[in-house]
Amino acid sequence: MLKVENINVYYGAIHAIKNVSFEVNDGEIVTLIGANGAGKSTTLQTVSGLLHSHTGSIEFMGKSLAGIPPHKVVSLGLAHVPEGRRVFLQMSVEENLEMGAYTRPNSEIADGIADIYQRFPRLKERRKQVAGTLSGGEQQMLAMGRAMMSKPKLLMLDEPSMGLAPILVEQIFDIIQELNRAGTTILLVEQNAQMALSIAHRGYVLETGKVVATGTGEQLLEDEAVKKAYLGG
Ligand code: ATP
Repeated sequence: MLKVENINVYYGAIHAIKNVSFEVNDGEIVTLIGANGAGKSTTLQTVSGLLHSHTGSIEFMGKSLAGIPPHKVVSLGLAHVPEGRRVFLQMSVEENLEMGAYTRPNSEIADGIADIYQRFPRLKERRKQVAGTLSGGEQQMLAMGRAMMSKPKLLMLDEPSMGLAPILVEQIFDIIQELNRAGTTILLVEQNAQMALSIAHRGYVLETGKVVATGTGEQLLEDEAVKKAYLGG
């Protein structure tokens, strides 16, 4: 579904992504794990078209994403939940969901919102509440719901567990698995390697802008180097 080959991304003189290649197949949960600054967010932003690679290629469903602006990437079926959620703080929950539906015809929006409320009952309870007053976990649900409003085939999630209490992290990971079982392919960036690898079909380990290991979630959980560096020994 997504094929990233040999990308190199720079911030001025900083070479943030070095010859990175990976792929995500239809129906999978694939995770990119790595420490702070490894290049995980930069990779997602490059796939979304927010940043550009100097080399290589990014193909989504057989089509090159080269030169395609981010809003068109969403229309192709690829949605991105950014690090820090970035919900529209002054808008209500429902208005945030409507913003996520800009690629869809007006006639489909009410049904789309009903679907999201079914999956996230908490958002339904809070639908008139201003997003800035939601808890961190609720904001994460809203950011995911907003992205799902575009009916993506591939959902990219950047550190959904960040700043959440363990019980909420589990809830968010359950929701990710449910979305996947319902047919959405997932590319998950996480610092919480233990949780991410435990739900992922496959994973890639990024270190200072390079892929240093890959395998199934189970293989990486058992890998001695991965255990030592990312799983607390
Ligand atoms: P984190 O989990 O801390 O978000 P990450 O793996 O997502 O880390 P990136 O945010 O992709 O890492 O950063 C990769 C590298 O690029 C880091 O060295 C970072 O300092 C650098 N970088 C990121 N954004 C910028 C920017 N806007 N300008 C300059 N350097 C940047």
